Amino acid sequence: PLVLGIETSCDETGVGIVRGDALLANTIASSMEEHARYGGVVPEIAARAHLEAMGPTLTAALAEAGVALDDLDAIAVTSGPGLAGALMVGVGAAKALAVALGKPLYAVNHLVGHVGADILTGDELHYPTVALLVSGGHTSLLLVRDLVSDVELLGETIDDAAGEAFDKVARILGLPYPGGPEIDRAALGGDPAAIRFPRGLSLPKDLEKHRYDFSFSGLKTAVARHVEKHRDEGSDVPVADVAASFREAVVDVLVTKALAACADLGVPRLLLGGGVIANARLREVATLRCAEAGVALRIPPLSLCTDNGAMIAALGAQLIMAGSAPSTLDFGADSTLPVTDIQAGVG
Ligand code: ATP
Ligand code: MG
Ligand code: FE
Repeated sequence: PLVLGIETSCDETGVGIVRGDALLANTIASSMEEHARYGGVVPEIAARAHLEAMGPTLTAALAEAGVALDDLDAIAVTSGPGLAGALMVGVGAAKALAVALGKPLYAVNHLVGHVGADILTGDELHYPTVALLVSGGHTSLLLVRDLVSDVELLGETIDDAAGEAFDKVARILGLPYPGGPEIDRAALGGDPAAIRFPRGLSLPKDLEKHRYDFSFSGLKTAVARHVEKHRDEGSDVPVADVAASFREAVVDVLVTKALAACADLGVPRLLLGGGVIANARLREVATLRCAEAGVALRIPPLSLCTDNGAMIAALGAQLIMAGSAPSTLDFGADSTLPVTDIQAGVG
């Protein structure tokens, strides 16, 4: 089926078009620069930016795919989780399109969409797979038995998301937003073993209750203390060593917990998604340790890892091919939609 997908859960206005598992268009407008001076995404600014970008992004996606609105078989849209005001813009646009065109509408889960992005890589996705989603808003470990019917949340962050930790630590080091690429750059030439920063929720007593959960706020505080100590002593902050050691702590705990899930559950497959996947060290460590553990690692191209409309269209197409009924039009934007609700507006 020819499906148009709309994504507005955070700061990217994404419109994608797919035919089954073939990617036809993936157009994105981002309001990231407007949030830079605040050091993080400002919901009100994101929502307004979506409203302005929606029309042009839609037009550009249709042109890129070379299709007309009338050609579409269905519309898919992210209805959650995400920023409520931001989600509402996409949901409103999608409902308007569906009603005006008389096309079925599929309201889908953003996190499951990230997993669905993998469909568009052209390689068949094998089940079950463990999926690690790491972005500015999420750090979630999932067990995916079937993309359209069986996704289980194994664990998630109990405080900051991994990308958020990169952004906050960059700020502590006086680096601009978004912090991920800045920390990657600052870590060049740094020693990842210079400072032993804490690995959140990794002590035996924490592992009992939080085996697959993450925590990054203690790490952020440890970095802040370390930097303050240098400033109090009047000594130069070893920025490269701090950046490299911080990054190592995040990467270590992400990969360790994901591979623990693979081992515990006997699942030899790991899929990565979300904007933090851009991290050079994360890719390196994941590749190395998955090879050692005999786990097949999949990392979609970055354009499909960060928030985008194509992954939402792909999940919509999968739902249609599995025979799922369209969503009823009474669904809303659900900022806390659980990952087990793969589709919203169903009964
Ligand atoms: P959501 O959480 O809803 O998926 P988001 O917009 O916060 O949305 P993305 O756009 O997928 O998430 O990713 C942005 C985040 O990824 C930011 O926090 C940014 O710092 C982080 N990031 C980007 N590049 C890197 C990198 N090289 N290393 C680490 N983090 C990175
Ligand atoms: Mg973003
Ligand atoms: Fe996302």
